[in-house]
Amino acid sequence: MPLDNPKSDFSKWYSEILLRGDIVDARTPIKGANVILPNGYTIWESIKRFLDQQFEATDHKNAYFPLFIPEEFLLRESEHFEGFVPEVAWVTRVGDRELNQKLALRPTSETIMYHMYAQWIKDHSDLPIKYNQWANIIRMDTKETRPLLRDREFQWSEAHTCHAKPEEAVEQVKESMLIYQALFDALGLSYLVVRRPKFDTFPGADYSIAYDAPLTDGRVLQIGTTHNLGQSFAKVFHIKYTDKDGKSQLVYQTCYGVSTRVLAAIIALHGDDQGLILPPKFAPIQIGLVPIFFKEDSDLVKTAIEDLTKELKKAGYKAKADIRESYTAGWKFAEFEMKGVPIRLEIGPRDLKNDSVMLVRRDTGEKQSVKRSDVKKVIKKVMIDIAQNLKMKADDILQQMLHQIDDFEALKKLMSTTRGIAISNWCGEDECAENIKEETSADIRGVREDIEEKPTGPCIVCLEEGKFRVYIAQAY
Ligand SMILES: [Zn+2]
Repeated sequence: MPLDNPKSDFSKWYSEILLRGDIVDARTPIKGANVILPNGYTIWESIKRFLDQQFEATDHKNAYFPLFIPEEFLLRESEHFEGFVPEVAWVTRVGDRELNQKLALRPTSETIMYHMYAQWIKDHSDLPIKYNQWANIIRMDTKETRPLLRDREFQWSEAHTCHAKPEEAVEQVKESMLIYQALFDALGLSYLVVRRPKFDTFPGADYSIAYDAPLTDGRVLQIGTTHNLGQSFAKVFHIKYTDKDGKSQLVYQTCYGVSTRVLAAIIALHGDDQGLILPPKFAPIQIGLVPIFFKEDSDLVKTAIEDLTKELKKAGYKAKADIRESYTAGWKFAEFEMKGVPIRLEIGPRDLKNDSVMLVRRDTGEKQSVKRSDVKKVIKKVMIDIAQNLKMKADDILQQMLHQIDDFEALKKLMSTTRGIAISNWCGEDECAENIKEETSADIRGVREDIEEKPTGPCIVCLEEGKFRVYIAQAY
């Protein structure tokens, strides 16, 4: 039983696959606060493990900071406060007692973390500080919620660093980019690395780098961000250190995060009409084993499947056999396909006789008969092939979505038909960006940060001098 909705009907397909792929159940009483189901949560835990390894290798430390943030903290950095206040959920009373000071449920943790940093940092030997926390975030977005794409409560990783010198903060931004790109590449995602325009910079930051993944409906999804905060928070939270000459100096800061939105990109970029397709490294079940029963050989087939499962588990693979006799083999195939299991192994009486195993790839559907003694070797290779193929296909999706657009009418036409990502020139004026948003519902996502690109013509809206070569798309 494949999905009722084909992927070409993206919105319905996405809603259906979340539940049937065991990713999210949105049938909760609270809009935008959903259950992450075992398949989805296990992928998220693999992402956590991957990032924790990267963080450890780059001297980050994990810690946990309070969920409650005093109102006064958010008020201190006015730009930051204005950026977040429309979405903040407040605790105003406890029992029947009104609180003297409202407490925010963290919409992000800069203020509470930096209040602590100010107490911890004394002199230059305390720097750099690189802390990450895994936490839930509350943003009571008033726009329409969509599971994983736009939630009011979601899980994320947020890292916050302090440095003595501005150039060290710039280097830290680059380190975070390498970490995130390693994650996204391992997940087989395609993405653009862009520097957001000034009007879309994180409230309180000098500049923001964002990672935009293409979704197959022609929109893009921001799957991570890195911000160079400069000294704006250090000023209001008094984060100072004594330098080598005994002088008091403000620190330079960065922060960066990725959230469960990454799951949405994995689902949308890799999935098909049969269900999820997961990158092998992150799949909760990497190998699904199905016996093909025939009356007389049932026991032999079952034993062969169980032996192979044990062997694969011992070799470190996440293998799962479905030996239930009350379900047909076809039903089990569909079930493993729905859950995105990268490799399926089948053993029937004929395979037993030939001392072989049938191996089926989830991403291409290709079947091959493998000698029993070669199974582990072949699996290792096929898993690498699948990961590469997913990345290649995702890169193709991104390439096909890119359009060189030099004319405002053509931009309007693109955004009202297939959508996609327009590459255009922009003068840098907010007015032209607003005009684009009004006429096409698309945003200027920014200029490329990973490669240098120069404007090639006049601003697409006002026809004045083009100052930036920008990427324009509708976003979730
Ligand atoms: Zn313009």
